Amino acid sequence: MKKFLQLKELSSGYGDVPIIKGLSLEVNSGSITALVGSNGAGKTTLMHTISGLLPVMDGEIFLDGEPISGTMPHRRVGLGLSLVPEGRSLFGELTVLENLMLGAYPRRARGDQSANLDKVMSVFPKLAERQSQIAHTMSGGERQMISVGRALMSAPTILMLDEPSLGLSPNLCSELFRALAEIRRAGTGILLVEQNAKQSLAIADRGYLLE
Ligand code: ATP
Repeated sequence: MKKFLQLKELSSGYGDVPIIKGLSLEVNSGSITALVGSNGAGKTTLMHTISGLLPVMDGEIFLDGEPISGTMPHRRVGLGLSLVPEGRSLFGELTVLENLMLGAYPRRARGDQSANLDKVMSVFPKLAERQSQIAHTMSGGERQMISVGRALMSAPTILMLDEPSLGLSPNLCSELFRALAEIRRAGTGILLVEQNAKQSLAIADRGYLLE
């Protein structure tokens, strides 16, 4: 069965103030959906709602056709939904490898840890060279790669990225987008939320604008 994420008329926000109002979109396996919006449009609010960190006010989130709005965040990861949060949120004192392995805790991914690690290392060869380096001593771009790699260690069917290009040089940005294309080729569905409209829409199979 084709894996997909679907939002239907989704609303969410803070307290009783909605930020996202009636948003519908789809992310299919092996394709990239880009959602572009300016500062404060509600991109992070949406990512947190899909992950289950914020409650749904109205509408529904479906994963493979099943409603998941009432499912706990860690169970959503277990179902194949993984978030690369804005600002990376790594464990700075741990090594690159330790950060990656923390992504491998869902049951679905435990059996394939070393195969998944090989895949991450082939997408991001730099991480293979720097496995034992302490994460906070890596550059901003390298830390972003650890963050994407950590999400991939959970073997997601849908990978969500909250402004992954933020703060990256044009070169690193291109490298990251090349990696996303490679992840898509392997069959993963990607929801890419970005301010960088030009590059994200160029790579996307489907694009949405958040007003
Ligand atoms: P940016 O690109 O600047 O990160 P964004 O599109 O991710 O922006 P959000 O962080 O989702 O935007 O914020 C959307 C709106 O929700 C903003 O007006 C923000 O002030 C508000 N907001 C965000 N977090 C909270 C919160 N915890 N409580 C109340 N309002 C919030």
